[in-house]
Amino acid sequence: MKETATRKQEAIRRAGPWRSIVLTGMLVWGLSFCFLFAASKQIFEAAAFWPTFVQALPLGLVAGGLYGWARWGHAVLHGVRSRNQLDDEETMGTVKTSAPALVILPPAMLGILGGGQLGSMFTVAAKTMGYGVTVLDPDPDAPAARFADVHLCQAFDDEVALAEMASTCAAVTTEFENVNADSMRWLAARGVPMSPSGDCVAIAQDRIAEKTFINEAGLATAPFLAVHTMADLDGDLSAYLPGILKTARLGYDGKGQIRVKTAEEARAAFASVNAACVLEKMLPLLCEVSVIVTRTRAGEKVCFPVAENEHAGGILDVSIVPARIKSEITERAQAMALQLAEKLNYVGVLAVEFFVLEGDALVINEIAPRPHNSGHYTLDATLTSQFEQQVRAMCGLYPGKTDLVSPVVMLNLLGDVWHEDGSEPNWEILLTAPNAKLHLYGKKEARKGRKMGHYNVLGETADKALQQARAIRETL
Ligand code: ATP
Ligand code: MG
Repeated sequence: MKETATRKQEAIRRAGPWRSIVLTGMLVWGLSFCFLFAASKQIFEAAAFWPTFVQALPLGLVAGGLYGWARWGHAVLHGVRSRNQLDDEETMGTVKTSAPALVILPPAMLGILGGGQLGSMFTVAAKTMGYGVTVLDPDPDAPAARFADVHLCQAFDDEVALAEMASTCAAVTTEFENVNADSMRWLAARGVPMSPSGDCVAIAQDRIAEKTFINEAGLATAPFLAVHTMADLDGDLSAYLPGILKTARLGYDGKGQIRVKTAEEARAAFASVNAACVLEKMLPLLCEVSVIVTRTRAGEKVCFPVAENEHAGGILDVSIVPARIKSEITERAQAMALQLAEKLNYVGVLAVEFFVLEGDALVINEIAPRPHNSGHYTLDATLTSQFEQQVRAMCGLYPGKTDLVSPVVMLNLLGDVWHEDGSEPNWEILLTAPNAKLHLYGKKEARKGRKMGHYNVLGETADKALQQARAIRETL
């Protein structure tokens, strides 16, 4: 009941003040009615115009007032009904506000900075929905170029290419955080709707800014020390040791990380990288999980189910969904991710990586301002994929439903699985399993540690899917 009252109040607010609508009805429609009525009489007898006008006035004003009243009532009823429709589409973690201010519909052209596998899967999602796609990537063999309408094969800060994007694309997004945030601000300054904003990307691309922002949002990270110069390592480091020295920028897949046990090792490690770093306390992890949030310009937010992530050699190996953790931790992780998206005033798809610690504590490891490897299960196991959400968010569409169709395991395919002579793995068993879905990224060269593709295995339970996914890997 309370819900309905709130919805009605909102619909009344949107419909406008009833008094002025009724008054406008009376004056505009009522007086017009009287005028036309009197004018029709005048055709026969000129002197009768004003007396007839005055005689018709009460009836005209009542009719005009009733018409205005009916219009106001219709607007309220329509408003309540559309709120109900939105509620029917409600998904976990959704917070509703007003309708999106900007809606971009197909066949508009969308732009993406970066044409790797994430850009490629975005492009497929956008093309499927009827949009055009322009990809900016300096690599002539960028995977996304296979599907894009336009491939601007230039550097990410090339002003001519950016100007072309600005003049042809209705909105622009990114597939990775290491793109120049200034390029994104440059596009935004030319009126291009950006999702996410250059400011959010600037935070995510620098571990010091990122961890500081997370802490300021009232959320926990591992204890860390910002290290700009050797002098920053002079004090007592016991709160951060044993730890990991991570370069503040350009780290991915565990690159740019050195594990250190003592202050001497930390100093030697910093001397070897010679770039701004964080020294982060090594935490005893029970497991790692991630949450992917979609947030629109209008503030609607939706979470995907939580993924449990296992790494091998610093690279994501498998994602297991739903995560095999207590439901209370699942809900807390989702609430934290939603809170962070809100604090960032984020528009787009945001991935939040967590560490689960002893005593059910949750700390945020890092964020990614884009779809995430641990969200690739959404291509086959949720009603909407993370890439469709990226399209929806940038186009001001309501986020799609994120319900899990079935437990699922995503397993990454690294170049290591390819044969020494460069020949393909044996896909036969994988492709004959009816519940397994192969995704290859179309990369020409299979190098060790390079992400070449992944597959999703849907199963009755997450454990069964995990067992089968691992068994399939043995056959490749
Ligand atoms: P990716 O690109 O895969 O997200 P990355 O290079 O950004 O990786 P991190 O996510 O910071 O690096 O770390 C990679 C992995 O190293 C983590 O997923 C985790 O397994 C481990 N790790 C990182 N920091 C810590 C820590 N403070 N305590 C324990 N393990 C950690
Ligand atoms: Mg990480």
